[in-house]
Amino acid sequence: MTRDEIDQLDFSKGSGLVPAIIQDAQSRSVLMLGYMNREAAEQTLETGRVTFFSRSRQSLWVKGETSGNVLHLVSMTADCDRDCLRVEARPEGPVCHTGSPTCFGNNDPGIIRTLEALYDTREDAGTSYVARLKAAGTRKIAQKIGEEGVEVALALTGEDNEAVCSEAADLVFHLVMGLKARGLTFDDVLTELAERRRTSVETR
Ligand code: AMP
Ligand code: ZN
Ligand code: ZN
Ligand code: ZN
Repeated sequence: MTRDEIDQLDFSKGSGLVPAIIQDAQSRSVLMLGYMNREAAEQTLETGRVTFFSRSRQSLWVKGETSGNVLHLVSMTADCDRDCLRVEARPEGPVCHTGSPTCFGNNDPGIIRTLEALYDTREDAGTSYVARLKAAGTRKIAQKIGEEGVEVALALTGEDNEAVCSEAADLVFHLVMGLKARGLTFDDVLTELAERRRTSVETR
């Protein structure tokens, strides 16, 4: 978002304020909701620290100004009719004043979504296995899925449940990466399973 785009925001409906949904740029969790006036939006953009307009104090509020739990701006996007914002941020410490990581309690996106987020964000092949998989491409990931599938099958014929879990985790991990490489998510697979279940119940 640019300064020009801030000028395009529709502050009229909210009497000078727009709601700003704060999302963790990495985990994709919804962290909190705040309000921004034009000045808060501009200051957020300029300083890279998420800044709200406090409705109770009627003044600018740099999130973390007293607690130290600042929100580092990653990106700011307006919705379809430009009357609210999604702010992707990197939180430094817990976001909620209760000490909870988010204001909505546990809205952990779950390990699968966290892995999917890794696929989207990891770029450094020097430090990240996910980045190396991405760079190696779909065929390499497909090969890993084949190998891990065989390892799961072999573990299932043995006695060691820990080995089964470990190999199954390898398989699921690479499966998630393979789906992402094709622009798909694990949710798409769950939707397909739910759809099959629905049609099999209907035709029973
Ligand atoms: P902070 O910005 O974290 O230094 O907190 C400053 C003030 O804002 C405190 O009075 C908190 O009670 C309040 N506050 C902090 N975080 C939140 C939040 N996520 N939602 C609502 N109020 C908050
Ligand atoms: Zn809207
Ligand atoms: Zn809170
Ligand atoms: Zn394995």
